[in-house]
Amino acid sequence: MTLDAKIPVGLIQEKWDKHRFNMKLVNPANKRKYTIIVVGTGLAGASAAASLGELGYNVQNFCIQDSPRRAHSIAAQGGINAAKNYPNDGDSVWRLFYDTVKGGDYRSREANVYRLAQVSNNIIDQCVAQGVPFAREYGGLLSNRSFGGAQVSRTFYARGQTGQQLLLGAYSSLSRQIKAKKVEMFTRYEMLDLVVIDGKARGIVTRNLITGKIESFAADAVLLATGGYGNVYYLSTNAVNSNATAVWRAHKRGAYFANPCFVQIHPTCIPVTGDHQSKLTLMSESLRNDGRVWVPKAKGDKRPANEIPEEERDYYLERRYPAFGNLVPRDIASRAAKQVCDEGRGVGKTGLAVYLDFADAIKRLGRKAIEEKYGNLFEMYERITDENPYNVPMRIFPAIHYTMGGLWVDYNLQSTVPGLFVLGEANFSDHGANRLGASALMQGLADGYFVAPYTVGNYIGSNKFEPVTTDHPAFKASEKEVDDLVKKLLAVNGTKTAHELNRELGLIMWEYVGMGRSEEGLKKALEEIPKLREEFWKSIKVAGTGETLNQNLEEAGRLADYLELAELIARDALNRRESCGGHFREESQTPEGEAKRDDENYSYVAAWEFKGTEEAPELHKESLTFEHVPLTQRSYK
Ligand SMILES: Cc1cc2nc3c(=O)[nH]c(=O)nc-3n(C[C@H](O)[C@H](O)[C@H](O)COP(=O)(O)OP(=O)(O)OC[C@H]3O[C@@H](n4cnc5c(N)ncnc54)[C@H](O)[C@@H]3O)c2cc1C
Repeated sequence: MTLDAKIPVGLIQEKWDKHRFNMKLVNPANKRKYTIIVVGTGLAGASAAASLGELGYNVQNFCIQDSPRRAHSIAAQGGINAAKNYPNDGDSVWRLFYDTVKGGDYRSREANVYRLAQVSNNIIDQCVAQGVPFAREYGGLLSNRSFGGAQVSRTFYARGQTGQQLLLGAYSSLSRQIKAKKVEMFTRYEMLDLVVIDGKARGIVTRNLITGKIESFAADAVLLATGGYGNVYYLSTNAVNSNATAVWRAHKRGAYFANPCFVQIHPTCIPVTGDHQSKLTLMSESLRNDGRVWVPKAKGDKRPANEIPEEERDYYLERRYPAFGNLVPRDIASRAAKQVCDEGRGVGKTGLAVYLDFADAIKRLGRKAIEEKYGNLFEMYERITDENPYNVPMRIFPAIHYTMGGLWVDYNLQSTVPGLFVLGEANFSDHGANRLGASALMQGLADGYFVAPYTVGNYIGSNKFEPVTTDHPAFKASEKEVDDLVKKLLAVNGTKTAHELNRELGLIMWEYVGMGRSEEGLKKALEEIPKLREEFWKSIKVAGTGETLNQNLEEAGRLADYLELAELIARDALNRRESCGGHFREESQTPEGEAKRDDENYSYVAAWEFKGTEEAPELHKESLTFEHVPLTQRSYK
């Protein structure tokens, strides 16, 4: 299949408007004849389900949590970008577009990113109308702060709980549609398969997580907004429930997986302390507005931070990147932290941490101002580490945080399976090889409120749909496959838990497919992962049965998928013999240790087609062209 991104022709500023004008509309009276499945209730899913319900479609919305409000989006802390330019500091749609393409190290599609920047302002208006309590200035205007990779302040925020407040806004809109009976909500349902009939996505198969019942749902289009796959690495900042099952099973049904190796490692997380942990905690990037990152100049200096005099500290980000200082993008800050720790200058017991210090900011602005901006983050840090960051610097280290890769989608957010649309972190669309801070919420809400409602309508309006019910043989076959898999997992009755095996997978991934990747290491990963997969099928222990709530079973099923996806991530990383963004190939670096791209050979989206678990996937390439943001070596100096 040739990949067609369906980018509209014309000036980049006009593409989206003209495209919307050219789309087929569905008569309001006809909309109620169509059913649309939305899987996911995070910012992308909730906003899409609410918007499609409001438009008049019959929406069925699914999530694994007990309430839509518990989607992982609730954890987002720092903020959401938009090009409103309230601070009058030089921002514009064009600058947000430029920063995002450059921040992604020139591995995203220009047309998509421009649209994202365009609709960013609508998102803020929509959320304010819903009552989202964004921080405000004394005069009433919404307040902004800075995030990495930008020299303007364009991040809107609600203390350190922006995701929560945005999700409550989306949830209010969703609740209105649930009450109006335009959205039917299915909580505690896990999608375990996509059903494709006559080449089109026509429904899903789910497992009721409380009763264990396998059920099918038929529809005219299916939207996946099921989040990212960072938990393949076991330790990540993602919610423990975040998983890759929906996208992986859709991949097996024909949806190509794009750029799986583009995984974001966030520089400011609370460091690992031991084997007891099952997740890591993020300290929001917003903290780098005021916190200064440093390590001792001397190797092995174990004095407490407060005893290290100013002249013996190395504020290495300010030194190496004077133009952006502590606000360099995440890939750059993470790599720089790794470098100083590799040199033996890391702090704390393990030596795998650097300081994030607020002493100067507290002196300059006063403790109260810092408390107002970051109070809940400081409290969270203190609860976890038992250290008070108002008195001693935070200790931070990079951790897996976000996945830029995901299911391949065209400009309309449609995957390679017609009728299957993919939104939010689950798709690969806008962030290239590195996502800038505060742009995931922007993308999720752009997809859900402003893009999918149009493009899904266009799909419905342009296609004829044969009536399909869940009695169709394709549903029955898929139900049987799902049921067989559940039984197979229960039957192994081995000795290891899913947590143990996931931790083993995570160690392989972090070691060989983590912050630094080499040809040799990736080949090793490609030997180790299939071995671990084999071990999984011999030694997984799933206690209990399939007919009740069984979290062991849920975790084992998700791990079975990670063990396949992990191999694709390593394969993609091996194929991409260049460094770009978060994908750092040791063999491809500049003399200063920065990522060195190879535009001639790798300026493409790698979209992988599934050919069978034990077969090599097929690589398809979507070439990327840059007409508006010239390809240059990224510099933040
Ligand atoms: C700690 C933290 C802080 C962050 N802070 C920021 C920030 O300040 N700014 C920013 O822009 N980004 C931030 N991010 C990133 C951002 O939060 C996420 O990328 C974004 O919220 C993802 O939203 P989503 O709607 O795509 O998916 P999610 O919010 O992950 O939602 C996924 C949904 O899919 C459902 N689901 C998953 N699998 C299935 C299945 N098989 N069957 C049924 N349902 C399923 C889940 O139940 C859930 O409802 C942060 C991320 C983390 C981890």
